Amino acid sequence: MDSQGRPDWAARLRVRQSALPAANLDGLVVSALPNIRYLTGFDGSAGALVVTKDEAILISDGRYALAIQEGMRAGALARVRFEQVSARYDLTLVEVVKSRGLKRVGFEAAHVTVAALRAWRHGLDELVWVETDDLVERQRLIKDAWEQEVYRRGGLAIASVAARLGEWVRPGRSEKEIARLIERGLEEAGFSKPAFATIVASGPNSAYPHARPTTRLVESGDLVVLDFGGVLDGYCLDLTRMCGAGRVSPAARALVAAVQEAHHAAVEAVRPGVEARAIDQAARNVFDAHGLGQAFQHGTGHGLGLEVHEAPRIARVSADPPEVVEAGMVFTIEPGAYVPGVGGVRLEDDVLVTSTGCEVLTGGPRELLVV
Ligand code: ZN
Ligand code: ZN
Repeated sequence: MDSQGRPDWAARLRVRQSALPAANLDGLVVSALPNIRYLTGFDGSAGALVVTKDEAILISDGRYALAIQEGMRAGALARVRFEQVSARYDLTLVEVVKSRGLKRVGFEAAHVTVAALRAWRHGLDELVWVETDDLVERQRLIKDAWEQEVYRRGGLAIASVAARLGEWVRPGRSEKEIARLIERGLEEAGFSKPAFATIVASGPNSAYPHARPTTRLVESGDLVVLDFGGVLDGYCLDLTRMCGAGRVSPAARALVAAVQEAHHAAVEAVRPGVEARAIDQAARNVFDAHGLGQAFQHGTGHGLGLEVHEAPRIARVSADPPEVVEAGMVFTIEPGAYVPGVGGVRLEDDVLVTSTGCEVLTGGPRELLVV
């Protein structure tokens, strides 16, 4: 972190630059916008970044020219060389690569279309384009000191929104109306925008893990799933809490207790060196013991960062080889159980992996909030 409380863009770019020789590359074209944002701070809707051993060239169009130049002057963006697109992105990219005499250039296989690659090859027949996978994504996986500080602030802020659920959730109010109140609460807590469309799922709707808010009015006896997130300084927080309207059934209460137990088991399983799937298994074992194995239909968690769903996946099947948890990762723990006729329950918190275990960033009660 520099003295102005901004990410150390130069350090992030240096990591990419110094990794080029080992990958036998003399350049890398970064085209995924969140990756460009991570390396430079640029958050426009179109751009490309060319990283060479000693240069970083940001290509964007006239809409962003002024903002980029001012951002660099103010230190809000990395100090890069800016190339304004004159006619077409691909033509400018080809020009930039050609003028540097690059011979072997990596591109992000997951983010470049066949058509884009064809355009880049056009007029650059001497150059070898090399597929790369997740280079910047892997760098984003471990949060630096600045990001960890954002996450600690964000955890407190989102917990403060959760603390207000009792003001907003009540019988007779619609799911849509409650979602709007939550989103206003996110703004009041300092988030720049919701991280995703807020989920408010009541009664029978709660049995669908990704229900969209409807005009249904909360009724006495309902379980209500409230899953919401906010973006703070570019980073996503994600939280789920449960409300019960009036008197909920013993079966619903038992479901809540099982999910609390699974949530606790999964959080306890987080520490550096464990496979991500072992954390998922810890939650799954609890559900199995309660005969609810079939009711848990999704993974236990997902990584958070500039995007609301990023690596690592805390799931039964993760990557090959299996993803291993490391200090500095931030991800959710969100086991849930969904039983048609009874309802659905999910509890979600965000954790930061430390050298010995994890820090739960999103505090506050996880009990069923009776409204
Ligand atoms: Zn969520
Ligand atoms: Zn989530």
